Amino acid sequence: MTTILVFFAAHWFLSAFVQSFFLHRYASHGQFKLSPFWEKFFYILTFVAQGPSFLNPRAYAILHKMHHAYSDDEKDPHSPHQSTNIFKMMWKTAVIYDDILKDRVKPEPRFDKEYPVFPTIDRFSSTWVSRLTLGALITFVYFAFVPMDALWLYALLPLQWIMGPIHGAMVNWGGHKYGYRNYKHIRDESKNTLPIDFLIGGELYQNNHHAAQNSPNFARKWWEIDTTYAVMRVLNFAGIIELKQRKPSLARTKSVARTGELAKAA
Ligand SMILES: [Zn+2]
Ligand SMILES: [Zn+2]
Repeated sequence: MTTILVFFAAHWFLSAFVQSFFLHRYASHGQFKLSPFWEKFFYILTFVAQGPSFLNPRAYAILHKMHHAYSDDEKDPHSPHQSTNIFKMMWKTAVIYDDILKDRVKPEPRFDKEYPVFPTIDRFSSTWVSRLTLGALITFVYFAFVPMDALWLYALLPLQWIMGPIHGAMVNWGGHKYGYRNYKHIRDESKNTLPIDFLIGGELYQNNHHAAQNSPNFARKWWEIDTTYAVMRVLNFAGIIELKQRKPSLARTKSVARTGELAKAA
């Protein structure tokens, strides 16, 4: 039983980390620089960590830039204020993601740039062969290690098949619906959902992040801890990443809020 619980926890936290670190902060916001080698390394790590539910960095970045530009209005691809329940929001997000991934919809040019690509992984990772093979590998771990007196552990298996979208939905639904706001003037519904943030590596400080989206540190108050940023500081110190340090200030925050409003009006 312990083996499966450790396997599940390792997959959960590694998958949450690559989504926050690589897909969100690097691919969508460019908050730090990577050499070509380390970009490939973290691209592959993201593919391995998310496995059957790998999220393509280009499609992720485009959806995420749309989210910031249209936060919580009708053009937001995943707002809890535009869907009646979390499953409808996840389905809507999946449809838009798939349309962009497969080039059925042309995104606004301002969103369709400045993201990493890795053609070999991009071609293979979203095929059913890839998704079924990686899903089967996870299933074999369960076959090998679930004891007969703890068959309830199989309830965790579907969560591991769709780990990436689960983390995305937690952030997009919870982070725009539940919690407190340090920046009340931001014209969206973003919140900081502190009690469960440790599960998701700083991503649930949505209100702080929307107020200063280029700041790599999503925490503001002394009691808020952004665990992904803590790892980023270690990687920066080790020379693996190069942080673009932009300290948020009230003036900057207001200017970002105005930019958001202009984007909405466009
Ligand atoms: Zn948000
Ligand atoms: Zn963001």
